Amino acid sequence: MSATSPLHSWPFLGRSKPLAIARAKGAYLYQQDGKEILDAGGGAIVVNVGHGRQEVAAAMSKAAQNTSYVLPGWMTPEREALAEELRSHWLPPGLTRIHLCSGGSEANEAAIKIAVQYHAAKGRPGKNKILARSLSYHGTTITTAGVSGHASRKLGLEGLLDKYPSIETPYPLRCPLGRQEALGYYIDNLKQTIAAVGGEKIAALIAEPMNGSSGGAITPPDGYWQQVAAVLKQHDILLILDEVMTGFGRIGERFGLDFYGITPDIMVAGKGMASGYAAIAGTYSTDEIAQTLADSPYDVMFHTFSSLPSSCAAAVSVLKILREEELVSRVKKLGAQLKDRLHETLGQHPHVAEIRGEGLLIGLEIVKDRETLEPFPLEERITDKLVGRALNQGVFFYPGGTGEVRDMLCIGAPFIIGDKEIDKMTAALQASLAEVTGS
Ligand code: PLP
Repeated sequence: MSATSPLHSWPFLGRSKPLAIARAKGAYLYQQDGKEILDAGGGAIVVNVGHGRQEVAAAMSKAAQNTSYVLPGWMTPEREALAEELRSHWLPPGLTRIHLCSGGSEANEAAIKIAVQYHAAKGRPGKNKILARSLSYHGTTITTAGVSGHASRKLGLEGLLDKYPSIETPYPLRCPLGRQEALGYYIDNLKQTIAAVGGEKIAALIAEPMNGSSGGAITPPDGYWQQVAAVLKQHDILLILDEVMTGFGRIGERFGLDFYGITPDIMVAGKGMASGYAAIAGTYSTDEIAQTLADSPYDVMFHTFSSLPSSCAAAVSVLKILREEELVSRVKKLGAQLKDRLHETLGQHPHVAEIRGEGLLIGLEIVKDRETLEPFPLEERITDKLVGRALNQGVFFYPGGTGEVRDMLCIGAPFIIGDKEIDKMTAALQASLAEVTGS
């Protein structure tokens, strides 16, 4: 590629030619030549109300005409409307305080800082360790990458990133004691880790309620979250629930905390909050935590571009669409229908180890040997090949896995898909698996 070509500058690493998308509408992306691609990954599992919604664009335009920029801590009509929408229709009663950020990494970073500052304000400055999980993704900043259990996204940074105490992410398919014993095994692991580190030194556990792409929508065993919450409470360890991917309807409930029936101390959510129309995410905490900080000398600094009025207006418009079109309950039905269909067509496939997830966060784990669960060698780059073959079929799936834990394909389609799209996704998966694995 010549140094004068725009493609020499973008993307940064220039490892492969970027897919050029000219426009998008509904659940579809369109290339310049008109080729249609079903966005079954919803980008990076972001697009929930679909592309090209004129009402969202109009709300953003109106907000940008009203004000360009106002300090994040000050109020504007768009910010007030968003706080009202969140409080009245989305947040659980315990989570009343809202700190907006420009993305999930920033919002998780804020959550971690708030948890540590909270304990310091309570006179426990030594209670400052963050408990992480073995398989997870929380972001790309130094701290959020450090707490992430994601080998491939830490490559070359190992010497810089801090090491965090870590518990095993519940992974029933691969539980060393077998699926039936998974609950006890993972809860014991939590208790043993807390005992080894010292509960008095741990500020918080950060965890996704259901794994995002790092684990290809791994779901914990029944009862896991209730038991985790009880153990954390005994040690005064805060629960930071990272709902960046699961939040705002993605798994067929407003949030994972509704799905699992728990109330974290801090919740973080982003991605689908504005369906990709704007860069916005939030850190939500209890009154108790925020008030403790308010009464202390500590501050929670804003990011310059957090809570832009146009971003808030986009989020309000998207959240209203979700409610008015009853898209969250639609996700529940679509997810069940899609999973049934995948089980019918690929449930016995010799290289499909598991089809899992909830709502429209569905993962498929691909293995070399379904009996032993032996993965394909890393060098075979099975996930990349599957994503590439499916794209040739006109369907984009989001790649999952961490390198060490691998070959996962994720479905995170917009909530407006129907039967036609379910057929397309199923056919593309069958065809790509056949091409790549020969079965
Ligand atoms: N947390 C989870 C669960 C995620 O899935 C992601 C992104 O994929 C992040 C945090 C980071 O969010 P962002 O990419 O918006 O910084």
